[in-house]
Amino acid sequence: MDIETDVLIVGGGIAGCSAAYYLARDGVEVVLIDQGEVGRGASGRNAGSLHQQLMPFIFREGSARERQARVDTLPLMAAASGVWQELSRELDGDIELRVVGGLMVAETDDQMAFLADKAALEQDQGLDVHMVSGNELRTLAPYLSEAVIGAEYAPGEGKLNPLKAIAGLVRGAKRHGARFFEGRQLLELERGRTGFTALLAGGRVRCRRVVNAAGPWSARIAAKVGVSLAVEPNCVQSGVTERTEPVVDHLVCHAEKILSLKQVANGGLIIGGGWPASIDPVTNGLTVMAENVRANVALACQVVPGLRNVRLLRSWAGVNIRSDGKPFLGEIPGVPGFYAAVPTDAGLTTAPICARLVAEQMTGRQPSFDIGMFSVERAAP
Ligand SMILES: Cc1cc2nc3c(=O)[nH]c(=O)nc-3n(C[C@H](O)[C@H](O)[C@H](O)COP(=O)(O)OP(=O)(O)OC[C@H]3O[C@@H](n4cnc5c(N)ncnc54)[C@H](O)[C@@H]3O)c2cc1C
Repeated sequence: MDIETDVLIVGGGIAGCSAAYYLARDGVEVVLIDQGEVGRGASGRNAGSLHQQLMPFIFREGSARERQARVDTLPLMAAASGVWQELSRELDGDIELRVVGGLMVAETDDQMAFLADKAALEQDQGLDVHMVSGNELRTLAPYLSEAVIGAEYAPGEGKLNPLKAIAGLVRGAKRHGARFFEGRQLLELERGRTGFTALLAGGRVRCRRVVNAAGPWSARIAAKVGVSLAVEPNCVQSGVTERTEPVVDHLVCHAEKILSLKQVANGGLIIGGGWPASIDPVTNGLTVMAENVRANVALACQVVPGLRNVRLLRSWAGVNIRSDGKPFLGEIPGVPGFYAAVPTDAGLTTAPICARLVAEQMTGRQPSFDIGMFSVERAAP
């Protein structure tokens, strides 16, 4: 493999595949490489939630700077759902996108108060959210436990099938001429006067521009051109139940504890939310933590008692992005031609809008969203 291209995209997750789709659709010559198989990273292992609301446990635990970063990112979260809706019309095949609304449930007065404050903060950033309780909640979600006293409702939240979405993006990008190469790890990146030479496991690519879409591993790619990116891997797990009759309509999360729950098109329920899994620091091998599976499932049954007789089929782990809560987007100052397309930790939700903004910048258009605050400059050495 010894090829030339205009743009080399490193990483075949939702971010890289979306960037390939948008750039190729705009007539840009694109090559995408992945060290493994396309979509086998976090993008093919996630829980399929389309989020908008701040996730409470992350929001509560973060520093003041991180909380502000997450609030600053809310308008992007709100716009992300619209980009997925456009993609579901543009891509061939049903990506099972359903904007069914999301309920973040409270079981105590303290949790209700927290949600009310959070809703006010989110409304200030333009998010369509409101509190529901009493008869309104029982009518909206009769499947919730009596112990749930109220919820914050975001009508724009929902779910989609990430595997079908990746396949649709790859087909779309290829139709516009993008070339994909699997099993090609980027080893070194040399900067020349007019571009870059990427040395791969088993090949070489000369290109004018590079897009770093390596998700949790993007700091390693940035380091190859001397840039420090504040992104770390974060190992989390999810599980899926057997198929069952319709039980849960919405995306259900919890006001304090780690939970995301939804029923997907084939009838299975995906239970997740970000419970930790473990990773071997030497081999990168992932292990599901059984005690966290039990705690995750117990919480799901506590909130939706109808799940008590449904069996969990399997659990899996994946490596997500850990950052300050904002994506890293755009050309890196001081390294012309080197772009970041690293979404937030709700990266299934935000990767397409992030990639589209980067593609707009690369094709010389005014990005349709102010990406100044997502500049990598905040992490420059
Ligand atoms: C269990 C789990 C559940 C989740 N649930 C949700 C959810 O419900 N909703 C939501 O919005 N988000 C969710 N997420 C987060 C979301 O999946 C990720 O944030 C998102 O997929 C990141 O996409 P990405 O394309 O940036 O990275 P990835 O999907 O990780 O892709 C990066 C790719 O880069 C490749 N790569 C890395 N280094 C190199 C190299 N040197 N050379 C070549 N290729 C390289 C990797 O092989 C990988 O394929 C979840 C994540 C996990 C793990």
